[in-house]
Amino acid sequence: MQGMMMQMPLRIIEILRYASEVHPEGEIVSVRTEGDIHRETYSEAYQRSAQLAHGLKGLGVGDGDRVATLAWNGYRHFELYYAISGMGAVCHTINPRLSAEQMLYIIGHAEDQVLFVDLTFVPILEALADHLPSGLKLVVMTDRAHMPESPLTLLCYEELLDGQPDTYDWPLVDENAASGLCYTSGTTGHPKGALYSHRSTVLHAFMVAIAVPKSLHEGARILPVVPMFHVNSWGLPYAAPLVGASLIMPGPRLDGVSLFDLMEVEQVTASWGVPTVWLGLRGEMAQRDAVPAQLEQLVVGGSAAARDMITFFEDKGIDVCHAWGMTEMSPIGTQAQLSRPMADLPEKTKIDYKCTQGRRVFGVDMKIVDETGARLPHDGTAVGELYVRGNAVISGYFNNEEASNAAMDAEGWFGTGDVASIDDKGFLSLQDRSKDLIKSGGEWISSIDLENMALAHPKVANCAVIAIAHPKWDERPLLVVVPVEVDDPPDLADIHEMMLEHVARWQLPDDMVLTDALPLTATGKVSKLTLRKTFGDHVLPDLAG
Ligand code: ADP
Repeated sequence: MQGMMMQMPLRIIEILRYASEVHPEGEIVSVRTEGDIHRETYSEAYQRSAQLAHGLKGLGVGDGDRVATLAWNGYRHFELYYAISGMGAVCHTINPRLSAEQMLYIIGHAEDQVLFVDLTFVPILEALADHLPSGLKLVVMTDRAHMPESPLTLLCYEELLDGQPDTYDWPLVDENAASGLCYTSGTTGHPKGALYSHRSTVLHAFMVAIAVPKSLHEGARILPVVPMFHVNSWGLPYAAPLVGASLIMPGPRLDGVSLFDLMEVEQVTASWGVPTVWLGLRGEMAQRDAVPAQLEQLVVGGSAAARDMITFFEDKGIDVCHAWGMTEMSPIGTQAQLSRPMADLPEKTKIDYKCTQGRRVFGVDMKIVDETGARLPHDGTAVGELYVRGNAVISGYFNNEEASNAAMDAEGWFGTGDVASIDDKGFLSLQDRSKDLIKSGGEWISSIDLENMALAHPKVANCAVIAIAHPKWDERPLLVVVPVEVDDPPDLADIHEMMLEHVARWQLPDDMVLTDALPLTATGKVSKLTLRKTFGDHVLPDLAG
């Protein structure tokens, strides 16, 4: 028997329409690429999204067409998120840190019709000029006064909106229609596209809002350091207006000093970002011996958050919420906040839990399996390949049958490529990406674990552990360290001693090399691929001579 309720499709534009009516004073504060700070309320954003939708229509954008963005976090990017999907087109966010080759590949693969670009990224397009598709229209996200001189034919964002009606007859799109497109950074092979729908995006906004209430509530002021150009800024541009939280958009400056200042001036209550960003903030907080006054929570994900970092912020009274997810999951999968009954646990145990990747959010199921695909128990000990399914998980990649087939298992679950254990309370502990695990003598060594331990050494500013080929053991771990002071590097024996409190002797890194900085991927993670290329020929001590 069918229920007898109305069929109202879940539509992204409804989030902004709701915010404009119920939280009209909620605001988007943006550090603009033009150099100043701009403020607009959700009701203004809703009106400008309508004007933009008219402008897009004028450019010939129709149902299902892909409209690309190459932009920082800011109000115009926010308006694009809503106008493009609202009118039935697909918002394709492009990561400006992709290589020229990858960028051209995804613009072609997505068949983008229009590309919106921030002032700072115009030179990227100029460099690609000869290879851009001939019909691609380019719009610079600025006003007439700031339009750059360029050999390219460029349209102006504000002119597109000028004089347009501030209401739009938003179509009743099918909730399963595509709304957004984001490509993985593709460390090997071509980038692969995750094609989000209205339904998955709205449900993900609900999931995130429910899962992280300390960040997401009416009156909160959230600073998304996670970029809108990659995985929708972890869903914040949708979840924040949904609950009536304001968004403080940082623009291009993401260093510790700029973030600290912006947090102070704009009374930021929560901020979300990858660990490398919080290293910068941590340095600035230590330097000033101060804490941004209103800051209550940092959400950290994208790579493993080190224990040392978590305790630093927690000691300063800032709640750290470790989260895990991926592009293919919209992206949030788990978060590691403690439930009320856990408040009485010993401090050390609480931090142990906060160091895990946490428990699933509503709408996400997880399983770990062995090499044959058989399920492993959630006992905190068994380690296997992590698979997920859920309302906001991809069912395949956009126009890529081969990658789609490879990613999904026979039961229709998506293979994350991560290797993990899950304990009896549901806490996920990621050991590694399967390609980063170190396979030594038939056993696995987790690079994440070793990095976490080495980071606790006072002379280690940053580090990574990679596999080095070994004739007897297959692979052995090499520790790559960025020392706090170049002239006073840490001693590997000291680091070993610290590690031996937690791991067996055979798991210790065989050697240590020093470097100035760790190479980063397009999404701000340490690029193990580059490190393996750089240090792959390193001769381990037992093989020397
Ligand atoms: P890309 O590599 O394209 O940036 P994603 O941003 O989708 O891809 O990254 C997803 C991957 O990042 C996960 O599969 C996992 O390996 C890693 N990751 C994300 N969050 C965490 C976390 N909290 N701890 C450890 N690894 C993480």
